Amino acid sequence: MSAGGLHLSNLQVWNRAAITKTHWDLTFKQDKLWIKWIHAYYMKRQRTEDVVISQTASWMVREISGARDCITLVDTQFKPHKSLIHQIYIQLLPTSPRTNWRALMFQNSARPKAKFTMWLQCHSRLLTVDRLVKWGTAVETNCVFCQQIDETRYHIFAECPYAKQLWTKLLTWMKIQSSMPNSWTNCLHWIIPHAKGKSRNAKAMKMVYAEFIHTLWLERKAKFF
Ligand SMILES: [Zn+2]
Repeated sequence: MSAGGLHLSNLQVWNRAAITKTHWDLTFKQDKLWIKWIHAYYMKRQRTEDVVISQTASWMVREISGARDCITLVDTQFKPHKSLIHQIYIQLLPTSPRTNWRALMFQNSARPKAKFTMWLQCHSRLLTVDRLVKWGTAVETNCVFCQQIDETRYHIFAECPYAKQLWTKLLTWMKIQSSMPNSWTNCLHWIIPHAKGKSRNAKAMKMVYAEFIHTLWLERKAKFF
């Protein structure tokens, strides 16, 4: 089943994504009229996660409030100019790379340090600039490799021209004709099936990917500090 296509069986996930997106609006976009209304009548200056919604509230309000658990499952560093619902939907799908990345760790013969860096990256634990800024650290935000765009984990490991170039070289070395997909999500969608199983190619793919992430991160740290 295509993760991008909307099949009938995924409508439930799509509905959950739509409600989660509305919950996101409720927390961060307080300028819309209906959101002002919900804040005035139900939330009364409380944080969305602290609000206790009465059972007599409308069905819609209770549903939106129930999306609190879903929002904690989603990486909320959304890309601009792309459908928010779709971005949430992809992450909530059972086939999402966010839940399947473990295939990359399983019997991976990369160096332990490289596997650990990849593990941190998959968990969004690497201290990329977007995270540092979130915590109020004053840092240079431009990507140290291309100097063109702000550094995020999505950028430096998938979207940056430097990462793409290095990855293409590694694929050529492995005699695989492909290039780096144009986004982090697509990158994982591509790599996970290639890294699954016990074939020699699958083992090589996950090892090379871990070393790729580790090498990029070491280079980035050396340039950054
Ligand atoms: Zn870059």
